[in-house]
Amino acid sequence: MTGYYGKWGGAFIPEVLHETFRQFGEAFAAAKADPAFWREYEELMATYSCRPTPLTRADNLSRHFGGARIYIKREDLNHTGAHKANNVMGQGLLVKRMGKTRVIAETGAGQHGVATATMAAKFGLRCTIYMGEEDVMRQRPNVFWMEKLGATVVPVTAGSRTLKDAINEAFRDWVTNMDDTHYVMGTVCGPHPFPEVVAWFQSIIGRESRQQILKEHGKLPARVYACVGGGSNAMGIFQGFLDAPQVELVGVEAGGLGIETGKHAVRLAGGGASEGVAQGYKTMFLQDADGQMLDTHSVAAGLDYIGVSPILADLWEKGRVRFAAATDREVMAALALTMRQEGIIPALESAHAFVQAFKEAGDLSPDDAIIINQSGRGDKDIFTIAHAFDDPSWKEFIRTKGKEYGA
Ligand SMILES: *Cc1c(COP(=O)(O)O)cnc(C)c1O
Repeated sequence: MTGYYGKWGGAFIPEVLHETFRQFGEAFAAAKADPAFWREYEELMATYSCRPTPLTRADNLSRHFGGARIYIKREDLNHTGAHKANNVMGQGLLVKRMGKTRVIAETGAGQHGVATATMAAKFGLRCTIYMGEEDVMRQRPNVFWMEKLGATVVPVTAGSRTLKDAINEAFRDWVTNMDDTHYVMGTVCGPHPFPEVVAWFQSIIGRESRQQILKEHGKLPARVYACVGGGSNAMGIFQGFLDAPQVELVGVEAGGLGIETGKHAVRLAGGGASEGVAQGYKTMFLQDADGQMLDTHSVAAGLDYIGVSPILADLWEKGRVRFAAATDREVMAALALTMRQEGIIPALESAHAFVQAFKEAGDLSPDDAIIINQSGRGDKDIFTIAHAFDDPSWKEFIRTKGKEYGA
């Protein structure tokens, strides 16, 4: 069935949006079939967002763990500081093709809002960003930049005043304004064709990584690690290696304060999620027995989400992608180590992938390469990191090289 990945995905949307989705799907299919479109996209990303991003060989970290040769894919070097640019700029080109003049988006932490406002400024589109009132207060700097970039930020006061309420408001706007407005989905979730569209634009990460690792290391990596919020940076890099069964793909979710505390966002790595339909698609959601969505927690705002990509749910069910979780404390340890050893500051989200790679690097040999996808840069996390570093309980992780840590 179109729009399904195994039993996951679909398009559970109101009747009034059917025509808009059909047009969007057609515009996407036409763009995908047109080689000139991908060339235009690559050219835009090369001149506006520093692509291809480098693959950095992390010699000091490799020596520290004494196993695999560690490489870092540098999505942090994109314009606006994360892989989100790959998706929003791509959707921007689609908006131009469709002849629409306005974009809307919802954002929790604000990163997707800033990326969308940036794209709208560049392409001359009007832009409205929906954000829960709670998040508007928590994410002042991002709200400031969205407004200066020309976007209207609408604080949503309904419900819990966070991301899921903002999603509802954005959909309400779209239903009213679909003639001139495109909804810019931020990750590989939501109703078909969004997961497919976002995965396609993000595949640029995997295409580059595959070429780069073959050139640098002479063969494919043993493992590829990526953090998983909605799943777009993970799907982006995994697509470069899906057809090579010898490459193990590892998705890392937010373990928060630990699965046993209930304060986490672990959907596929045994956090108690179950099958459900919400926000227009079917996936594994963190919900209670009545289908009420649970409150999630992560030190990394970008991973703090109740659902997960239907494409990843399928790859999980088929056993093609292995899932793990990293706790907030482990994330701080991985960050501290990466900064000191390599002079690189990963985003809190990305640091989840580093944790799992660090736990496993020692089991491999220097003949094996591993790639960690650094989805974004950590500058935005300065206050969270400063606060967490006051409590040095994470230091044990580094001393034990992640081995028997966790007590
Ligand atoms: C938004 C964000 C994520 C989480 O989104 P995915 O769709 O899972 O990739 C991860 N890392 C960074 C830096 C982000 O900004």
